[in-house]
Amino acid sequence: MPELIPVLNKNDIDNMVTRVASKISSDYQDHELILIGVLKGAFVFLSDLVRHLSIPVKLDFIRVCSHGSGVSSSGNIRLTKEIEMDVNNKDVLLVEDIVDTGLTLSYIIDYLKAFNPRTVKVCALIDKHERRNANIKVDYACHKAAEGFLVGYGLDYNENYRNLPCIYHLKL
Ligand code: 5GP
Repeated sequence: MPELIPVLNKNDIDNMVTRVASKISSDYQDHELILIGVLKGAFVFLSDLVRHLSIPVKLDFIRVCSHGSGVSSSGNIRLTKEIEMDVNNKDVLLVEDIVDTGLTLSYIIDYLKAFNPRTVKVCALIDKHERRNANIKVDYACHKAAEGFLVGYGLDYNENYRNLPCIYHLKL
């Protein structure tokens, strides 16, 4: 049986999201901001994040498949849902669940740049910075993690555990 070891509880998550939302609200105070959530993993984080923002924002989603069905990134990234909003000359904030090697994010940023946004920044729930293998910057990170496979709060393992309200380390 896989074991779930608690990493972040509801209170930890609430504090992290509040802190990052307040920074984003202050940085983008006089800007028209478009948040682009990366499906599926960021859906819970994004829904909490937007409710903590004190500035008006618009929302869109993108979906990429990159992880296969295991615990390590395949590096083989495929776009399965395009953006629908016009981001030309707009400030865009990508909202990701986890940035690990950074290959997924690098692919998404390259895709978005073709639509000529004014700026593209990145907000991630979890920044696994030690395994970074792409030249990208995580502008807003809620939590930095070193190793281990995390589930819950939108994060899955083979589509399971997304509904858990807290974040756990999955020990297989
Ligand atoms: P990267 O391309 O940065 O290596 O991988 C990013 C994607 O891999 C994330 O969007 C996420 O879907 C998945 N991923 C990486 N680490 C984890 C993890 O610890 N738990 C889960 N559930 N997904 C992960």
